[in-house]
Amino acid sequence: MVQACRACDSMQLSSLLDCGELPLSHHLSTSKEEALALARMRLGICEQCETIQWSEGWTSNYFQSDRNLYREPERHLDTIAAQLQTLPLPKAFRIGLASEKDRSLANRLTGGSISNEPPYDLLLARHIAEHSDLLSQSITEWRSQISPNGFIYLEVPDASQAIKTGDVTVLWEQHRLYFSSLTLRRALAMSGLFSTEIFLPREESRNEGILAVIAHSHSDPQLLTGGEEKRLALAFPFRVAQQKKFWENYLEGKKVAALGAGHDLITFLNIHHLGRYLEFVADDDPEKLGRFLPGSQLPILPVTAVRRSRVDFCLLAVNAESEERALTRLTDFREQGGEVVSIYSLSSLAPPTVHQLS
Ligand SMILES: [Zn+2]
Repeated sequence: MVQACRACDSMQLSSLLDCGELPLSHHLSTSKEEALALARMRLGICEQCETIQWSEGWTSNYFQSDRNLYREPERHLDTIAAQLQTLPLPKAFRIGLASEKDRSLANRLTGGSISNEPPYDLLLARHIAEHSDLLSQSITEWRSQISPNGFIYLEVPDASQAIKTGDVTVLWEQHRLYFSSLTLRRALAMSGLFSTEIFLPREESRNEGILAVIAHSHSDPQLLTGGEEKRLALAFPFRVAQQKKFWENYLEGKKVAALGAGHDLITFLNIHHLGRYLEFVADDDPEKLGRFLPGSQLPILPVTAVRRSRVDFCLLAVNAESEERALTRLTDFREQGGEVVSIYSLSSLAPPTVHQLS
């Protein structure tokens, strides 16, 4: 089956990585024996725009409709708001929200009022583009909602570091597209938008890696060529295999638990087949407690179990904003000699050798 690129519509999608047969990662089982539906998940890369994307597997009709369930990082929003306020906007400008996720940024933008009716002077679209099944259509729609002098603020996860290091925690069936700064801006240019990137201080975008871009149609888009995207993408399967081997050696013979029963951990365990090294996963979310991780079928226990169960090793699977809080909750465990490492290659708590793999 020949498939079109989700970012640029070209018919030049090549196969990149077979991730195996995976269950939906939001489906936590109610019993250990529950038989889950599986889909073969394959990543592809577009030869035209070089955007990495799912070419086969679960489709959006299987996803939960409420994306707000997943909390997006917000610690950088003050910096973004300050940058957006320097744009040449009318005095009483109209802000449009592509989703409810954008309300907290809109509230920081003093001087503007949130409007339900286009045209907008500034349309906020945080963490939407990566969910798009047809990005060119989404961009055309957003473009039609702004005034001729208007701007679109887009934010997506920056997948480039994860691709470089072979970090599979970046993969999720609900994120259809995986961007670098170049591929996102190239996709915008192919839909007629000029874009500039807002560079965030490193401590504000740690393991999430955030790409922040302002787009408009006041000037002609640049033709964006070059970049290392293709070369890094083609090396990704090899890096993933290296990571798998690393984690197998690292966890072998240890008594291991993990903290944070989110889709990142589920993908990490399922793609690398690491579930067999773990005893359980800790998470105090009442919606998750007592359930089982799809695929590995590991039980979800309260966080206090990490200390009580005498595991000697805890994998941390929480985003950078929650890392400190998680470490505080594991103080007793660490004082008793328990080790904590992050599953994210960009985290300062990742095992040092994970960084050296690339
Ligand atoms: Zn493409």
